[in-house]
Amino acid sequence: MGTAIQVKEATICPNYVNGQWVQSRSGRKLVRLNPANHDDVLGFAPLSTRDEIREAVDAARQAFPAWRDTPAPVRGKIVMQAARLMAEEKESLARLLTREEGKTVSESLGEILRTVNILEYTAGEARRLAGETLPSELPKNFIYTIRQPLGVVGLITPWNFPVAVPVWKIAPALVCGNTLVWKPSELTPFTSRAIVDLFARAGLPGGVFNMVNGAGEEAGDELVEHPAVRAISFTGSCEVGSLIYAKAARQMKKVQCEMGGKNPVVVLADADLELAADCTIMGAFGSTGQRCTATSRVIVEESIADKFVQMLVDRARKLKVGNGAEPGTNVGPSVDEAQFNKVQEYLALGKREGKLVCGGERLRGEAYDRGWFTPPTIFDRVAPDARLAQEEIFGPVLSVIRVKDFDEAAAVASGIRYGLAASIFSTNANAVFEFAERVECGIVHLNSPTVGGEAHVPFGGIKATGIGERETGSIAIEFYSELKIVYVDYTGRKRETNIY
Ligand code: NAP
Repeated sequence: MGTAIQVKEATICPNYVNGQWVQSRSGRKLVRLNPANHDDVLGFAPLSTRDEIREAVDAARQAFPAWRDTPAPVRGKIVMQAARLMAEEKESLARLLTREEGKTVSESLGEILRTVNILEYTAGEARRLAGETLPSELPKNFIYTIRQPLGVVGLITPWNFPVAVPVWKIAPALVCGNTLVWKPSELTPFTSRAIVDLFARAGLPGGVFNMVNGAGEEAGDELVEHPAVRAISFTGSCEVGSLIYAKAARQMKKVQCEMGGKNPVVVLADADLELAADCTIMGAFGSTGQRCTATSRVIVEESIADKFVQMLVDRARKLKVGNGAEPGTNVGPSVDEAQFNKVQEYLALGKREGKLVCGGERLRGEAYDRGWFTPPTIFDRVAPDARLAQEEIFGPVLSVIRVKDFDEAAAVASGIRYGLAASIFSTNANAVFEFAERVECGIVHLNSPTVGGEAHVPFGGIKATGIGERETGSIAIEFYSELKIVYVDYTGRKRETNIY
């Protein structure tokens, strides 16, 4: 059992294998700085080797039979205890998350509370791992189904929701009776360590839950390639997801990939514009735009576009950018230099592809020079097929696309390779429901922002955003279990008729 962990200066984050905290032997590491203040060094993420992943897979493999045979409600109790611990420790976990990833403390708390809900819900699923009983075509026969674990599963996760996304994989994997190896993002090792520590203290037996830090191309790739890993659940970019999908398919592994988004908000002329503007700003600039469900395109009817753009600009200018740990901050920094540089490249592109109406330059000055800060930025008059309107930026950048009517708006909303979330603002019920039916995405919000989701509800996208079963809610169980069908014949005689 672990104890609550304090992050000390310049520590190297350990891995967790077979119930033990162990230092990586690789000797290679990545420094982790607070993205709002580079003078604040959290420590180092080790770049673990393929051998270290193999050791973790071995530990998970050995722990599997006993965990599989542990009654599901008992497994659920441990997940429930992790929920209790996370709820008790939410404040310190939120501060750590903000320090490591950069989102504001209230956003961190929101992520943690959602995660507690997910843990509670999934713990309850342990008592509902039901199959079904079916009648047979034959007399004195029946059929039943059971759900069984897969074995060792591999989880690969991103940095932007480093608590919620891993836990919405870990909890159903455990409840279903799998053992697991988790490769978190190398950008959020300390938050990952805190999560493992919670589960260890909740009472998980050694080897059931293993965590190995490392680079995707090495540690992540080994997890995907390892023949004993039966399934991969991945969340991250489309580029990496499509690689993983192809590699895992060669070994006939089960794969689930939740990937990028370029989520539209449609604003029709009859909308409540105050509501639409508030929700668009929240969706675009909350979490610094670093959400898969962030609003990055606003598709607005030409007749109200001038007015609506001005409303967006007025609101965006009032947002306070800064260190997410400081009260009153609305928008934190980019997570690291690479992400920040990517955003700056899109700012330059946006000036060629659209009309800059707000933001557009990195922030300078004492409060900003030691962090990766970009102000909320809006480009108007962006063409639907411009790169700015087609590519995921993952920063506080919003493109306005003007259209003539509903039909054009609906076509532009779906005219993209991604398909995660979409919103529409209108007081016309026919238009709203027509949009919900037509738009090509996994989640639609009517008169509310593109962001957010509830713990007991499925989450995920279509097209280039998602492949495999949805996550969260009861459907999450499907990915982490196999269905076995059992035919029962209690006649005690040789069958006279064949069934096909
Ligand atoms: P990423 O670069 O694709 O990385 C995701 C994870 O994959 C990281 O742990 C990464 O390791 C690992 N990885 C990288 N290359 C790999 C390889 N060749 N084999 C195996 N693993 C590999 O994504 P990110 O920048 O961390 O996260 C942002 C992306 O996640 C955005 O596109 C966002 O939309 C998406 N996202 C989607 C959802 C959703 O539910 N749809 C939710 C959250 C985020 P490293 O530590 O080396 O990076």
